[in-house]
Order: sequence, then C-alpha cells, then structure tokens
Amino acid sequence: MTVFQQIIDKKLPCKLVFENDRFIVFHDIAPKAPIHLLIVPKKPIKNLSYVSPEDCEMLGEVFLIAKQVAEEFGIEEDFRLLSNCGERAGQEIFHLHFHLVGGKILGPIC
Ligand code: AMP
Repeated sequence: MTVFQQIIDKKLPCKLVFENDRFIVFHDIAPKAPIHLLIVPKKPIKNLSYVSPEDCEMLGEVFLIAKQVAEEFGIEEDFRLLSNCGERAGQEIFHLHFHLVGGKILGPIC
C-alpha cells in the first residue's frame, strides 16, 4: 500500500488543505518551493499511464481544485501543476498525484 493510500485511509497524518469524496490535497512533506501541495485522487491509479476514459470526468476536477487552492494560497497567477509519470520521470510514489508548486520564481522543468 502506498503512503498516499495510507493518508487517504487516515492511517498516516498529513497537513490537510482540502478534501472531498474524490480528492485529498495536502502539503508535500519535503517542499521544493514555498508552496508545494499534492493533489491526490482517492481512486488508486498508478500514474497517468493508467488513466482510463472513465476517469476523465473525475480528473477534470484536478484543474478546478488546483485553481481554487492556488487562490487560497494567493498564487493563482503564477503556479505550476505537474505529475511525474514513471520512475525515470521522477515518480517515487505510485499513486497518481499532481504537484502544485509556487510562491517563488520557478525555473525550467528539465
Ligand atoms: P513523486 O516523486 O512525483 O512521486 O512525488 C512524491 C512526493 O511525495 C515527493 O515530493 C515527496 O516529498 C512527497 N511525500 C512523500 N511522503 C509524503 C508524506 N508522508 N506526506 C506528504 N508528502 C510526501
């Protein structure tokens, strides 16, 4: 079971930002920017390579949540939303998630 599944199941604590039936949003434990949040669908999908057509409506909500949370943190004009897909792309936790980072000038991704 992944760390994120344990957070979803309330077996591990997190610094919670937002939660509904489909998503949980919390602070990254090792932030790479002043604001570094993780938007995690509760459905256990390994990564973007495992998304199915039936997930698309649910995943569309990621953009609304990102916008809403970015507004709460005052970074709605300048933030980055990204998902690492696969080990060689830097994925460490194999439960689909989206990094929302901001609060400083962000450099190039690669
Ligand atoms: P990724 O490399 O895209 O799989 O991202 C995994 C992220 O999860 C990393 O930025 C970690 O710092 C973060 N992380 C790992 N464990 C925890 C945890 N218990 N609570 C919050 N964030 C975590």
